[in-house]
Amino acid sequence: MVFWSIYKTLDICYTYTIILTIYMDIISHGLWGGVAFGRKSKKEYWTAFGIGMMPDLFSFGVYQAADILGIVSGPDWTQGAPSSHEIAAFVYGLYDVTHSLVIFAAIFGLVWAIRRKPFIPLLAWGLHILIDIPTHAANFFPTPFLWPISDYTFGGIGWGNAIIFIPNLILLATCYILWGIFRKLKKK
Ligand SMILES: [Zn+2]
Repeated sequence: MVFWSIYKTLDICYTYTIILTIYMDIISHGLWGGVAFGRKSKKEYWTAFGIGMMPDLFSFGVYQAADILGIVSGPDWTQGAPSSHEIAAFVYGLYDVTHSLVIFAAIFGLVWAIRRKPFIPLLAWGLHILIDIPTHAANFFPTPFLWPISDYTFGGIGWGNAIIFIPNLILLATCYILWGIFRKLKKK
């Protein structure tokens, strides 16, 4: 009985850790986007933060929202990343568009042409793709960064792996601390 309770508790912890890791990946993209391209004002920060998360929100986010609303029946994420064939085909389509440096460059250039000046927070989208290329393993959503020109993908190390996860947290924290220090020094 005691062992069963311990097992159940560990199982629940494991499930929540996986779900938390998935959300932390998306939030981490937002944090990188904000600190890299949104340092001028609060508005610019949150715009870059949102754009940084956009590629995942417009692919997996849409999928999860459709799953919650009962429009599609999504796979069970609670036991880790599901196998690729369990994911609906339209998610791959959205993932191709939102994770392509070619599409990003075209949109960035178009916005630049329309505004006659670059929209800096939009660079958070490009950064998201650059971060994803080495931090996605070949077996689960490798980054289609050259789509639609080429289907080439790079087999990296999954984001949830401690070798990526911990340095990422340390680097993010370092950048935010440095930003905070520079802001304080500037105010003086
Ligand atoms: Zn992504």
